[in-house]
Amino acid sequence: MHDGLIDLGSDTATRPTPGMRRAMAEAEVGDEQRGEDPTTNRLQERVAELCGTEAALFLASGSLCNKVAVAALTRPGDSVLCDHRAHLYRWEAGGPAVTSGVMFDPVATDDGHFTAEQVRSRLQSGSKYVPRTALVALEQTHNFAGGTVWPLERYEAVCDAAHAGGASVLVDGARLLNAVVATGVPAHVWAAPTDAIWVDFSKGLGGPFGAALAGDGAFIEEAVRFQYVFGAALRQSGVIAAAALYALDHHVDRLAEDHARARTLAEGLAELGCRVADRVDTNLVYFDPTPAGLAPEPFCAALLDEGVRMGPVRGSVRAVTHLDIDDADITAALAAAARVLAAA
Ligand SMILES: *Cc1c(COP(=O)(O)O)cnc(C)c1O
Repeated sequence: MHDGLIDLGSDTATRPTPGMRRAMAEAEVGDEQRGEDPTTNRLQERVAELCGTEAALFLASGSLCNKVAVAALTRPGDSVLCDHRAHLYRWEAGGPAVTSGVMFDPVATDDGHFTAEQVRSRLQSGSKYVPRTALVALEQTHNFAGGTVWPLERYEAVCDAAHAGGASVLVDGARLLNAVVATGVPAHVWAAPTDAIWVDFSKGLGGPFGAALAGDGAFIEEAVRFQYVFGAALRQSGVIAAAALYALDHHVDRLAEDHARARTLAEGLAELGCRVADRVDTNLVYFDPTPAGLAPEPFCAALLDEGVRMGPVRGSVRAVTHLDIDDADITAALAAAARVLAAA
């Protein structure tokens, strides 16, 4: 349902479904800050089980999971190695520098996936002169590299190289379950070589907001302390946790439909003459409409007039499929794109 707008701007556009709203209305609740919200506790157990970790912590956002994990795994002055388009580095307003006093060591890659060799060559154990690389941060899938899925072997080798050099590993799992569905490799396999990994409920899973950070017991204990430091403890959070539990029950397998629709959209855009990214692994389609007659910004503006939202992102356009986009929406979006480009 989309009030006339076909919103391919982001998978955060999803709205709670009637079933999800019923689960929210019926949620058993208590005071989360005291550990007494039964639904939040159930969600945390569920995510820990999914990731094969000792514990998990429900937080208000994925960005907060990043901030809390960085706080728990670094000291001020430490360095965080990540891809140069990592959300943590590029899209969180410098948050980790503000909250934890860390600096970044961004690695340039094409697909968002650096190598174990790159980790070994850049990792610093720290001295009285050089900052310590305390953390290696990965994104699975990688958002601004195109929703690309890390190949398991390279991912595990990178995690091993980080640990061998004395660094911890954090995985930003805003779209971890998209990677799980795309590869068939379960979440616990992706979680196994990490110190911290999180799952977002507000992207393709369709929850209103919230994410859960998973790791071993000592890490989650530290994470809870920083949750409190950041003023982010919750009260009757079961209303939101119920939506997340509902999403885990009903909205995971269907991510495959989003991936299929993204491929259909990519093929259609290529037929219209757009330069489409080589890889459409999951639900994100990046393309440049310039060869078809319009630069990204005017293309998105004209498309919005036709009732279709896509987002201009640094010299290209990002279109995202999700729970609230069906086959008819893809057909309509392609027809609108064709009209806009024909008029240009
Ligand atoms: C959306 C996103 C986040 C932030 O998640 P929120 O729940 O919206 O705070 C972090 N990392 C990546 C890669 C994202 O796409």
